[in-house]
Amino acid sequence: MRQTITRDDRSTAETTALDGIYVDGRLVRPDGAQYFDVRDPATGRVWNRALDATAAEVDLAVRSARRAFESEEWSMLRPADRAQLLIDFGSAIADNAEELSDLQVRENGKLMREMFGQTKLMREYFNYYAGLAQLPLGATNATHLRGMVNYTVREPIGVVGAVTPWNSPLLLLVWKLGPALAAGNTVVAKPSEVTPLSTVRLAQIASEVGFPDGVFNVVTGQGAAGRALVEHPEVDKVAFTGSTPTGKAIAASAASRLARVSLELGGKSPNIIFDDADIEAAVTGAVAGIFGASGQTCMAGSRILVQSTVYDEVVERIARRADAIVVGDPREDESQMGAVASRAQYDKVLEYIGIATGEGARLVSGGVVAEVPGLKEGLFVRPTVFADVTNDMRIAREEVFGPIAAIIRFDDEEEAVRIANDTEFGLAAGVWTGSVPRAHRVAGLLRAGTVWVNNYRKTSYATPFGGYKQSGLGRENGIDAMREFSEEKSIWIDAGQGIKDPFNPRA
Ligand code: NAD
Repeated sequence: MRQTITRDDRSTAETTALDGIYVDGRLVRPDGAQYFDVRDPATGRVWNRALDATAAEVDLAVRSARRAFESEEWSMLRPADRAQLLIDFGSAIADNAEELSDLQVRENGKLMREMFGQTKLMREYFNYYAGLAQLPLGATNATHLRGMVNYTVREPIGVVGAVTPWNSPLLLLVWKLGPALAAGNTVVAKPSEVTPLSTVRLAQIASEVGFPDGVFNVVTGQGAAGRALVEHPEVDKVAFTGSTPTGKAIAASAASRLARVSLELGGKSPNIIFDDADIEAAVTGAVAGIFGASGQTCMAGSRILVQSTVYDEVVERIARRADAIVVGDPREDESQMGAVASRAQYDKVLEYIGIATGEGARLVSGGVVAEVPGLKEGLFVRPTVFADVTNDMRIAREEVFGPIAAIIRFDDEEEAVRIANDTEFGLAAGVWTGSVPRAHRVAGLLRAGTVWVNNYRKTSYATPFGGYKQSGLGRENGIDAMREFSEEKSIWIDAGQGIKDPFNPRA
């Protein structure tokens, strides 16, 4: 069923048709396909539509990826040629960074400068994985058997289903695409229904630089499309970023056929401020750690733990800094925080403000929607800070994924570590201290995949990222990501030992 689309005249992307699935190197709109609206959360307006893929359309994409995986064009490509394609892809993304950022901002309302910086950086991700595409990850092994040569090789797993969220639609996909393609897999991506079109554009760019048809396919759609992808028997590995409940459902579904799975899930990360820290830097890090990207990052430092000796001062400073944040049009340079990505997310944030207030947390900043001139229908919330939170409150235990900070008091190091670790999550943590021994001690005790000391929210293609506990399974980025997207084969060669007949030892 076709719909009338009211296009917003601020679109620079409307010249490129993106409302289809991307299969076999082209945009496809199968007969009878359904579509859904794509809405700009800053204006509230529908500016495009995306195809709502069913299992039949997912099947088309998976079969395309399977054909490409089995074709010599991809599997027999020399590593140097695969690397060159990755380099060209990264360059083309950087050349198109403005358009790709514009698409993402229209989809999720994040600041243009943040989306632009992220998109530009993707070139370096592909350069890094171009290097790894040529690095032999196997080994020659010194076994206990004389006259035998044993070595290992790493081979691609096959078809990868990549299911991604809306907060950093392209970067979080590139975390998967880089190593998956470098290792020789083919990919079917299913972006979030909130941010479907930027991923379709990315696939078009991959074709433009010369990736063989079917190597990188995209199906847009709701959770049901993701489920169809994950359940498809021809998908050999699922790489997922999203919420913990969805991650658990995906792991259960993949387990039925032992498909490989890696999961990057939610968090409730502690950002711990000790009284021996540079308080000004710690306050800046705490504010940036939770309010960057309107709190819509998996690694958001949503629990700020503050030592009682500096508690009142830090609460006061964080509240004043939050008050000063300029919430506005994500495209304007002076804006410091953009929109919340969707109506559902906006409602959830407001609901948690009510929950925290009801639990007795003390509101010291925000707690209200933000009025942005000219964007009456936009989904804007003031940065919100609750003090006097205790770790048993829902605001301290559940991921909001929005601009709400929960400040918790502690007395000493032992208590700080205990509160920090008292969570079902384990994605990241921050420690602010002037003491080197304490930095190492506390970093060692925190049960989280990443610990930042006197900084927060840093990631790189060169370093692994992933969660302890219910924050995930496996790691993205770094050399290990190549292992996540490959199988290891052990090969034995008889180099003179001769075959012995076990049934006739004297022969
Ligand atoms: P979500 O789990 O609702 O959706 C993520 C993706 O999964 C979407 O594409 C969605 O359509 C799809 N999906 C939904 N149900 C599915 C199912 N049953 N089977 C297969 N796919 C399904 O998450 P979201 O709201 O888009 O993103 C926010 C969440 O992502 C937060 O919890 C956040 O912490 C997490 N996140 C984690 C990281 C990380 O690296 N650990 C990074 C960013 C976001």
